[in-house]
Amino acid sequence: MDEENYLLKGQAFLGIINYVKERRGQRGVEQIFSILKKEAPDMYVSPDEFITKESYPDLLFIKLLEIMDRQIGQGDLSECYNFGLYDSHHLGVAGYFISFLGNPSTVIKKAPKSWKYYHNKGELVVTKLEPGIGILELRDYIKSTTICKQLEGFFTGAAKQTKGKNIQVNKTKCKSHGDLVCEFTVTWDE
Ligand SMILES: [Zn+2]
Repeated sequence: MDEENYLLKGQAFLGIINYVKERRGQRGVEQIFSILKKEAPDMYVSPDEFITKESYPDLLFIKLLEIMDRQIGQGDLSECYNFGLYDSHHLGVAGYFISFLGNPSTVIKKAPKSWKYYHNKGELVVTKLEPGIGILELRDYIKSTTICKQLEGFFTGAAKQTKGKNIQVNKTKCKSHGDLVCEFTVTWDE
C-alpha cells in the first residue's frame, strides 16, 4: 500500500482552512501552516494554493487535521470530530449528502459515491441497510484514527440533517484496533 498515492480533492483542504479561519482567524491559519512547514516540509502547500477540484495527498490532510487538533483543541482528536460535523454542513457543493427530507438511510446510500468523488483510493461500502440501522465499511484506506474521528463527526452531522430521530453513529470496527476495515454503524428511530 503506497499511501503517498492516496489523493483527496482540494475542497476538503479548503474546508479545514475555513474551519480554522472561523475559529482563529487568518492568524490561526498561518500558525497551522507554519507548523506544517516545520514538521513536514516536503508535504508543504501554501494555504492560498489549494484548488477545489485538484487533488492533494491524503497524508497531508491527516497531518493538517492533527496540527489543527493540537492548536485549536487538546490534541485528543475531538477537534477532528468537530471538523467532521462542520464539514457535513458545508460540503453541499457536490450535493451528495444533504437531504432534509429523507432519513439517515439517504445519507448512507449516497456515501459511497461521495467518497469516490473526493478520493482516488479506498472505498466506502454499505454492508447493511434496514429501517433504523445502516452500516458503512471503509475498505483499502490508510489506517488513521484521525480520519475515523473526522468521519464519525461527518456521518453524525450529515445524518442529523435528515428527519431521523435519536441518531447514533458509532465506530464499530477500526484498522487502528486490528480490524481489517473501519466500520461505522448508524442507528435511528424511523
Ligand atoms: Zn478506523
